[in-house]
Amino acid sequence: MNGYAQVIVDLSAEAVDRRFTYAVPEGMAVRPGQLVAIPFGPRTIEGFVVSLTEECDLPPEKVRPILRVVREEPVVLPDLMELAEWLHERYLCNLVDALRLMLPAEMRGGRVREKTSRRARLALSGEALSAFIEANKRAPKQLEIVQILGRGDADTSGLDAAALRALVKKGAVEIYAHEQRRTPLALSGDATTPDPEPTDEQRRAIGRLTGALEHGGGRFLLHGVTGSGKTEVYIRLIRRVLELGRTAIVLVPEIALTPQMVAWLHGRFGGDAAVLHSALSAGERFDEWRRIRSGEARVVIGARSAVFAPLENIGVIVVDEEHETTYQSDRRPRYDARAVAWKRAQQHGAVLLLGSATPSISTYMRAMPGVRPENRLELIELRRRVKNRPMPEVEVVDMRGEFSRGNHSIFSARLSAELRKCLDEGHQAMLFINRRGHSTFVSCRACGYVVRCDQCDVSMTWHQSENALRCHYCGKTLPPPKRCPQCGSAHIKYFGAGTERVQEEVRRQFPDARVARMDIDTTREKDAHARILDRFRRGEVNVLVGTQMIAKGLDFPNVALVGVVAADLSLHLPDYRSVERTFQLVTQVAGRAGRAQVPGRVVVQTYDPDHYGIQLAAAQDYRAFYTRESAYRRSAMYPPFTVIARVVYSGRDGEAVKACALADEGRLRAYLDENGMGRDVLQLGAAEAPIKQIRGELRWQLLLKLSFRGDMEAVAARMQALADAAPEGVRAELEINPNNMF
Ligand code: ADP
Ligand code: ZN
Ligand code: ZN
Repeated sequence: MNGYAQVIVDLSAEAVDRRFTYAVPEGMAVRPGQLVAIPFGPRTIEGFVVSLTEECDLPPEKVRPILRVVREEPVVLPDLMELAEWLHERYLCNLVDALRLMLPAEMRGGRVREKTSRRARLALSGEALSAFIEANKRAPKQLEIVQILGRGDADTSGLDAAALRALVKKGAVEIYAHEQRRTPLALSGDATTPDPEPTDEQRRAIGRLTGALEHGGGRFLLHGVTGSGKTEVYIRLIRRVLELGRTAIVLVPEIALTPQMVAWLHGRFGGDAAVLHSALSAGERFDEWRRIRSGEARVVIGARSAVFAPLENIGVIVVDEEHETTYQSDRRPRYDARAVAWKRAQQHGAVLLLGSATPSISTYMRAMPGVRPENRLELIELRRRVKNRPMPEVEVVDMRGEFSRGNHSIFSARLSAELRKCLDEGHQAMLFINRRGHSTFVSCRACGYVVRCDQCDVSMTWHQSENALRCHYCGKTLPPPKRCPQCGSAHIKYFGAGTERVQEEVRRQFPDARVARMDIDTTREKDAHARILDRFRRGEVNVLVGTQMIAKGLDFPNVALVGVVAADLSLHLPDYRSVERTFQLVTQVAGRAGRAQVPGRVVVQTYDPDHYGIQLAAAQDYRAFYTRESAYRRSAMYPPFTVIARVVYSGRDGEAVKACALADEGRLRAYLDENGMGRDVLQLGAAEAPIKQIRGELRWQLLLKLSFRGDMEAVAARMQALADAAPEGVRAELEINPNNMF
């Protein structure tokens, strides 16, 4: 025997989430981080080698041998192994679930491999080759191949198979396997964009960041107004990182929505850039991962999971649009990519750079004076747009007034007039509404009946393109009713506007406009986002209607008008962050206008024009918003001044779900009292969840608000234990400061 390996088996179950010892057979080279095949009970499965030991306390007959090494190269680097341990402790997940984050899913179980082609080359040269040609004059097909290969190696697929076989048999030609890369669409094309001259503000920011890079790292918040050129700061910093022989990660909220970021980084870094995200094909993801792992690609761009990219010697981790909710995973392990980036930057002595025009309240708070050094971010500001371009002019329109003046359209007179002007001047417009579909609910005029999903506790949305009512939670569809199912009246009316309705209104009022729509419904196919945005860029489309998909990071020089059709849609949701979300959305969409020579104009339609979230977004005054919002959070005791934790219970048997939630409330209360933590509890209770039913499952929640003095780690561990102990038929999920409170 050759020593022992501690292995985490690739099965996600708490009962097996520990290290198992296997023997390393003689002659097998096993290294930590490798994926190996092992016997487990009667089966053969895979596992991750976490460490190696010389000795082992178990009796020899109890220790079974590793069967084989699945991949030669370790798939989990040492720092990522350490990171997995950290995730396991911090997010209370199984270690194997943390390890699985570190490599493309398809690599486990060998579901994808390198794509190879078979190529042929000459095995003879000089006199031997001449002699061979002389001796085979009567085999023209073979000689033709010899001639082709004389000019260079060739793919076997283009060569005559029988002649090739004969040549191989005679020893004149050799066949070998050649690895092919599957290149993601976003990275095809050439890379030759020159650097622009940085502005003074950019230059100062770059100086500060490269200084930190060269002196052991640091943590920064780059707060730059929309169009201030944050990307250029990232690029310059990354260039320095590469000069120092180090590597870089750039996280973006969603790759499909940020094709420009990918194009820019690829334009500057060429083959050094790689993308990692879930919309790649399995083969593409595998190849990109290997290009990174081998050190060939040193700049990785990707959505949140790219924070686990297998890079060594990281110099910077950038988190662009750091306020986006997509950085927090909504599946177990429920990690926050910003927190992971923080930890990983620390491991590498790297710079952590969070960037946004509208930082989240909790991030910005860390950049304020008085924060303890281990939690602090240094603030760097870009206050101006590049080339001193003005911020767009924003006008808030009170929709109540429109209605009383007899305008029943979803566009105010102002928005219609601006759109007319924009089109006449040959510019482009973006119209934003944070809801898809045509009409958001369908109701009977006579009795008030609203069509709801019978599986979920929500009203159904009418989608014109498929002429169906659709539930946005479970996807169920119904034909629209001709008569009210409750009273039989034929007066069925459609209320509330979504993207389809806005598109229709543009077509009705502006038959000359070339309008496109971007929402989940129009972007289901691979690369559909990029196609729509390309048509907009080329000017084939001059009005782009969309959901928050069009709010982020897009940079189109010819956009002169942005219309926010219904700014308050997100304002009154049952969530303490609803104002913050509204402020971010309105500021971000407004920021899409006037980014180049064409000055920008923004029309914000609302029924609540005096709300500070709308007013301050219109003024694009982040600092005032932060001051106001953080004061509110402090007084109302919401995060980041407290922690909210909840366990969501769901299941078909509503009584069982309810009983489980109520029993856990009692257990948690007892635990808190026994440990003297009662005084740290600001709120505790089990109740029906705001959305009582989804997909036919009834939902309850156990909600806890804890003050900062409280030992959240201990409480979370206790709540996780309660969730894990939920009876058969009840699903229970722990969430800490969740993105959604429905
Ligand atoms: P932000 O992310 O801060 O909104 P971007 O990084 O998208 O801003 O930059 C806005 C626009 O300004 C882009 O078209 C970018 O190419 C351009 N830009 C950035 N820096 C400079 C510069 N120093 N000189 C000229 N153009 C620049
Ligand atoms: Zn009715
Ligand atoms: Zn439903």
